[in-house]
Amino acid sequence: MTARLIDGKAVAAKVRAQVKAEVARLKDERGLLPGLAVVRVGEDPASKTYVTSKRKAAEEVGFYSVEHHLDASASQAEVLGLVRQLNADARVHGILVQLPLPRQLDSEALLLAIDPAKDVDAFHPVNAGRLFQGKPGLRPCTPAGVMRLLEEIGFSPAAKKAVVVGRSNIVGRPMAMLLLAADATVTICHRKSDLPLEIGQADLVVAAVGVPRLVKGAWIKPGAVVIDVGINRTPEGKLVGDVEFEAAAQLASWITPVPGGVGPMTVAMLMQNTLAAARSF
Ligand code: NAD
Repeated sequence: MTARLIDGKAVAAKVRAQVKAEVARLKDERGLLPGLAVVRVGEDPASKTYVTSKRKAAEEVGFYSVEHHLDASASQAEVLGLVRQLNADARVHGILVQLPLPRQLDSEALLLAIDPAKDVDAFHPVNAGRLFQGKPGLRPCTPAGVMRLLEEIGFSPAAKKAVVVGRSNIVGRPMAMLLLAADATVTICHRKSDLPLEIGQADLVVAAVGVPRLVKGAWIKPGAVVIDVGINRTPEGKLVGDVEFEAAAQLASWITPVPGGVGPMTVAMLMQNTLAAARSF
């Protein structure tokens, strides 16, 4: 292996430590305690795990942290009522509705009901629109975490050719917009793209697809930085990314492992977003 590993676990711990220090300062100087409210509906096991890790991180950095767990049969009106109550709650600066929601609920309508200033997942169209227009605002956690990893390794996207594989609203699209805002020349790839051609020209590859080892190591331009957002479970129960790691590591200058690369950054950036939301009040 010639590539250096990007240690997302260590960077995430550093981000959380910085947030913790800032929380202490805000408390001392302004008497302000940032608050994060997480809404979970039903018994989706993955959601339970995610919410637990978010609450743990929130407590570790010293936030006011509250979880609202509603029954799987909760009605739209009930969840909407809770979101409105949290919008009005001065102790709460960040609201997160954990997806997926049970089938009877309209997720889009619920996400639209969150006050954009408290939308720490940054999935509300107001925040997506602000990012698209190049204006300041809350940024989606996973792509924001990728930008932070790039900063840590001293990679400046300016004037570089960046290829983002995947165009979801959660990762691919906002990732491309963040890289564009950082002055990269950005190509967004999807199912109809010529991946070997595009990736072969990229100084930076961000894979956010959800297909195990789709990006072949041999496609990587020598010296490129490779960021693997994918988290896929193989039939043997192993976690793998969207990139053929071993082969890509022969050519890349830096690469993220899976697990331990981008994964830990998402929750850390959620803490940073909640702090930012609290500061803007
Ligand atoms: P998604 O399914 O919403 O989007 C996948 C995108 O990949 C789509 O835009 C689709 O057009 C594109 N795509 C699918 N097959 C393709 C192919 N063969 N060639 C090119 N493009 C193709 O997924 P998502 O929510 O963006 O997540 C992507 C991956 O990242 C998943 O593995 C997910 O688990 C992972 N993820 C990780 C984190 C984290 O690290 N914290 C957060 C979010 C998502």
